[in-house]
Amino acid sequence: MKIVNSPVEMKNLSITLQRSGKTIGFVPTMGALHQGHLSLLNIAAKSTDATVMSIFVNPSQFGPGEDYDKYPRTFELDSKKAQDAGCDILFAPTAQDMYPPNYSSYVDVAKLDTKLCGATRPDHFRGVCTVVLKFFNIVNPQIAVFGQKDAQQLIVLRRMVSDFNLSVSVESGPVIREKDGLAMSSRNKYLTPHERRDAPLIYKGLKGAKELFDSGERDGDKLIEMIKTHYKSSAMFTPEYIEVVDIVTLEPLKEIKDKALIAVACKTSESKTRLIDNIVLGGEL
Ligand code: AMP
Repeated sequence: MKIVNSPVEMKNLSITLQRSGKTIGFVPTMGALHQGHLSLLNIAAKSTDATVMSIFVNPSQFGPGEDYDKYPRTFELDSKKAQDAGCDILFAPTAQDMYPPNYSSYVDVAKLDTKLCGATRPDHFRGVCTVVLKFFNIVNPQIAVFGQKDAQQLIVLRRMVSDFNLSVSVESGPVIREKDGLAMSSRNKYLTPHERRDAPLIYKGLKGAKELFDSGERDGDKLIEMIKTHYKSSAMFTPEYIEVVDIVTLEPLKEIKDKALIAVACKTSESKTRLIDNIVLGGEL
């Protein structure tokens, strides 16, 4: 596995790969790698000749008072995991190289970036879209793989790719979970023992709602009520939002006619960690 830090070197490398007829599969991450990240690398490897994984804790997607400074940075361990998982190129630029002095261009995916997580993280998706567009231009992938764990991110990025006529194909991988159902996340490291004990309830509530849907319930509010009942049984977290939304527009759905996304964000009470999870009804994203 080759480790590349410079965006210029990465761009030259991807041009060379493409001139020799090789296709590139790309998996962007912020590091602190777990099985969820590595599963995306496997998906990318299946249909491309070379895989590129980026590790970059992107400052522009963190708001004031968020965890940019304390976000886990475990590069040595990550590079071993990426190599063992078959990654060909690990791209880890510095914040200075990605955002040099006088940097001033940003991407706004209007409307979608104000829904769900966007309501409390106003510039988050602007930061995500900006860095992903930059990565697409540096890495030049044919395929980029994102996790359904961050469902809104996936939906917003698909919108950006379509709106800007980008030639990359966006694929998605399923949410990889711990044995007890908690969605794997680099932020799970922040949880206190009590929070970690109760965190699987987040998915349990979502599964309960899906069972209700599978038994014929189509009223969005009833599904939300079912999830709230599960969440009330723990004092370890409070929901920030629980929404049943359209998978393209992210608009709330009173009545589910076709596919729907149930998305939740919770704030834990001791470590104040923000955990997100979701489930798709009636298909995949
Ligand atoms: P992050 O490092 O959190 O920015 O995530 C990088 C990529 O990994 C994103 O596309 C995430 O959606 C994806 N990802 C994170 N956690 C999981 C998970 N538990 N299962 C599948 N994909 C994940």
